[in-house]
Amino acid sequence: MAIKSYDAIVIGSGITGGWAAKELTEEGLDVLLLEAGRNIDPNQDYSEHKMPYDVPYRGLTNVRFMEENYPIQRQCYACREYNHHLFVNDRENPYTTPADKPYLFFRGRHVGGRSIMWGRQVYRWSDLDFLANEKEGIGIPWPVTYKQIEPWYDHVETFIGISGMKEGLPHLPDGQFLKPMALSCGERILRRRIAEKWRGQRVVTIGRTAILTEDHKGRAACHYCGPCEQGCITRSYFSTLNSTLPAAQATGRLTLRPHSVVRALMYDKDSNRVVGAYVVDGVTRQELELKAKIVFLCASTLESTRILLNSANPRYPNGLANSSGVLGYYLMDHLYGSGASGEYPGLEEYSDLGRRPNGIYIPRFQNLRGQDAKYLRGYGFQGGSHRAGHLGGFQLPSLGSPLPPGFGASLKEAMKAPGGWSMMLAGFGECLPDKRNKVEINKNVTDKWGIPVLHITADWYENDQAMYGEIREVAAEMLEAAGCKSVRTFGEAKPAPPGKGIHEMGTARMGNDPKTSVLNKWNQAHDIRNLFITDGSFMTSSACQNPSITYMAFTARAANYAVEQMKRGEL
Ligand SMILES: Cc1cc2nc3c(=O)[nH]c(=O)nc-3n(C[C@H](O)[C@H](O)[C@H](O)COP(=O)(O)OP(=O)(O)OC[C@H]3O[C@@H](n4cnc5c(N)ncnc54)[C@H](O)[C@@H]3O)c2cc1C
Ligand code: SF4
Repeated sequence: MAIKSYDAIVIGSGITGGWAAKELTEEGLDVLLLEAGRNIDPNQDYSEHKMPYDVPYRGLTNVRFMEENYPIQRQCYACREYNHHLFVNDRENPYTTPADKPYLFFRGRHVGGRSIMWGRQVYRWSDLDFLANEKEGIGIPWPVTYKQIEPWYDHVETFIGISGMKEGLPHLPDGQFLKPMALSCGERILRRRIAEKWRGQRVVTIGRTAILTEDHKGRAACHYCGPCEQGCITRSYFSTLNSTLPAAQATGRLTLRPHSVVRALMYDKDSNRVVGAYVVDGVTRQELELKAKIVFLCASTLESTRILLNSANPRYPNGLANSSGVLGYYLMDHLYGSGASGEYPGLEEYSDLGRRPNGIYIPRFQNLRGQDAKYLRGYGFQGGSHRAGHLGGFQLPSLGSPLPPGFGASLKEAMKAPGGWSMMLAGFGECLPDKRNKVEINKNVTDKWGIPVLHITADWYENDQAMYGEIREVAAEMLEAAGCKSVRTFGEAKPAPPGKGIHEMGTARMGNDPKTSVLNKWNQAHDIRNLFITDGSFMTSSACQNPSITYMAFTARAANYAVEQMKRGEL
């Protein structure tokens, strides 16, 4: 039987793969979506409504099992007894690093990728971000401006549903928002006092989040149950499964193939085109050759680059589409893991309502109108103020909160009463692109499917360290200005290993010059016209905002461009 050839293959069904599949099928293409992992059954796999008594270790996890199978993933704040099955098994999915440079690679391998466990914070970039490289002579200039990507942010936000508050800030553009979630009383005080003390130069706003505050496109508004990283049966937050995949499936033009581990891309030297993918069937281990006219690589930042490096051939000996030699270089993440927390006395007569799955955001306020800090770029804060112990019991301790005080009868009594109010701010800092941060193939180590793994070398350098040193102190200063007591800073003197921010970016950057970039401004490989890479690999700098909304906007734009080109016969 002849094997069917598709119009497009999309590799990876996470946040970006879901978007590529939706846009390409809606524009009339016959799409094969290849996903390395298994299918997800929300009825079996989601656990957001499970109680500690529903799981064997009451939410405190089987430590030995986790150390043996998930030694990296268990370091992620969102990986718990309830949902560890949504994270990769580290023994089956290894990577290597230099002994003195650890890297934390937090991943999922299933239909939907990390869209199921992600934190859902979404912030647009502005030209402060897109023009910074060019202005400061760092890395290479972005080939895209805010005006060019703005309609695609609109397009994505309108479809997925973002709740947020308009603030009119030029450096953090407002989007197409559903009504915002309410600030807690502590956060309202923080917003007012920070605005007063810094005369409007620092702004506290409710987090902009891909969670519905109103019913939207057949999906229900959030009911504030809390642990979204464990799934959402009411489809209230954006994930591939909740949103883009059903849209793609509704066209009747999508073929989803789980258990399809792409080892490398198929390349035809005569036409200088990719013609499909070599796929290891995850269950049978049989190798398949699946074909299409165009390929969208959406396997996530480092996995897409791994596929290209593993696709080297005589024409591209250092990795497919790598005539520039920059494939694998300029890996970035966000500086993460430091900040401050404090108690907020005087609010005891107030309580939170439900478990709001969102916090606050303080957009970057450094170096906005010139160079006023001792480092380049800047950082924003995420955090929030809530009352501990409300709806307490053992649920909250097993989700990471401290145990209530006491023992026996006094413990029971303590669990009935709500605790005190507190406030926390954690920084997310921009990381500059640096050639020393890179990935290569380690031919001596293979994964469970026999595919050579990545060797990741990443560290923080001078600018990152100068910025990191200040974040804790600034967080503490703001909490004190807001009236918090017993303010404590957190975070080691040295930043946590790269990867901990879970915002890995770069390694196949875009630019106008094919000699210094892998992709052009349409996410299309300079070397191979029918190859597009739209996960975070394309990022030319990192800004300090959570990046996934930007990946989605570029993916939608690239997909529409590819279809246009195909229709004109130019692809
Ligand atoms: C706990 C957590 C919190 C986060 N919070 C936020 C946040 O608040 N805001 C934000 O912007 N970002 C956040 N992120 C990051 C966000 O999840 C990623 O940026 C985003 O998922 C990247 O999308 P992607 O499509 O590139 O990759 P993914 O969503 O990771 O999907 C990649 C898919 O490709 C598949 N794949 C990989 N290799 C292959 C292969 N060889 N063959 C076939 N398929 C393959 C994988 O199985 C996976 O399904 C968070 C991540 C985590 C884990
Ligand atoms: S989005 Fe809302 S309803 Fe869905 S899991 Fe999160 S808190 Fe619960």
